[in-house]
Amino acid sequence: MDCLFCRIIQGEIPAKKIYEDSETFVFEDIKPQAPTHVLIIPKKHIVDVKEAKAEDAQIIGKLHLVAAKIARDRKIENGYRTVFNVGPGAGQSVFHLHLHLLGGRALGWPPG
Ligand code: AMP
Ligand code: ZN
Repeated sequence: MDCLFCRIIQGEIPAKKIYEDSETFVFEDIKPQAPTHVLIIPKKHIVDVKEAKAEDAQIIGKLHLVAAKIARDRKIENGYRTVFNVGPGAGQSVFHLHLHLLGGRALGWPPG
């Protein structure tokens, strides 16, 4: 399996790492859409949230807690957004689960 984000976790493709623990890896998005735009990913290869299994519930929750920690560290807690793009129709382009964390600017609603 040739997965871009698995290769980033393994250090085969460079990325600006922000945080890592036994289950998660966090790095700067290569094409940031906001002053803070980082991707929080599980080390386990999960395609997306609709392919996730019951046993993945804990890690999916943990991605959000890691996002909250980074938002606190970056002082963007006044307003940030966490996003899963699920499926090509929603703009998903990498098929390894990733939670976008966006903040540091006004975020419009509804999103595009
Ligand atoms: P999505 O479109 O929701 O699948 O998000 C994929 C994200 O990965 C996009 O925001 C891309 O800018 C980002 N991305 C793609 N390749 C890389 C890379 N090599 N390093 C960091 N971010 C990347
Ligand atoms: Zn992967």
